[in-house]
Amino acid sequence: METAGAAGTHPLERLHRPVIFLGPPGAGKGTQAKELARCFGVPHLSTGDMLREHVSKGTPLGLEAEPVMKRGDLVPDSIILKMIADRIERADCSHGFVFDGFPRTVAQAQYLGELLKQHGFKQPLVMHMVIDPGLLLRRITGRRMCKVGGEIYNIYERPPKVAGHCDNDGGELEQRADDREEIVGPRLAAYEKQTAPLAAYYRRLGRLRDIDASKSVDEVAKLIVEVVSAARQP
Ligand code: ADP
Ligand code: ADP
Repeated sequence: METAGAAGTHPLERLHRPVIFLGPPGAGKGTQAKELARCFGVPHLSTGDMLREHVSKGTPLGLEAEPVMKRGDLVPDSIILKMIADRIERADCSHGFVFDGFPRTVAQAQYLGELLKQHGFKQPLVMHMVIDPGLLLRRITGRRMCKVGGEIYNIYERPPKVAGHCDNDGGELEQRADDREEIVGPRLAAYEKQTAPLAAYYRRLGRLRDIDASKSVDEVAKLIVEVVSAARQP
């Protein structure tokens, strides 16, 4: 059997079912979802990234979402569901995808279940990023993202080689508008109230896998590859 390290690739293997990353802001969903998607050559679908793109382009959707995101609340389900339904119809999704930050409410999860059925996909495998809450503030306030390629850094934990610039493309690094300390409380509250119940929802369905997200990036990536590989067994 082929084995893969954290940074391994699976050139001929397919992701056998969609993967969801579920966890509080700053848990490392984006970092790990990007890596897993790269490993399997499937799209990384981050509703946060999609919304930020709408905001930066000033689309009607972006204008509606911006104030909601700035105060740390969840964007209405109707907006998110339309965005996801349109996205997974695109050809690059035909071999699967990795969701990051979606679903975030039970209504979104129910809708996703139906959508996957309609498109002939298996039901998802959910990476539940379990983390010591004491680590979150440092991860969130230290986060910087590349304006060009969206690569994720952390000024304390994962600094770029040259301060302020991306290692991959030299792009300028910026802090997200909602990553300021005063917005962290409302975001965590929204997570506890609206998103945390999804863990019980997916656990009941037998689809949830707890991942210790307090470990280093490489250790977490290794745990995820093990979980995905184990779920492939008949
Ligand atoms: P999320 O998508 O869950 O909000 P990110 O993947 O953007 O989280 O990570 C949040 C911040 O923490 C980023 O600055 C990232 O570089 C850093 N980070 C991610 N995973 C780890 C880890 N295992 N250890 C230390 N820092 C991490
Ligand atoms: P994080 O990685 O820190 O968890 P995201 O980038 O996933 O944050 O999301 C940023 C913001 O975008 C959220 O605080 C919320 O306002 C909005 N958002 C992203 N995904 C969703 C979703 N699935 N449902 C509702 N709002 C969302």
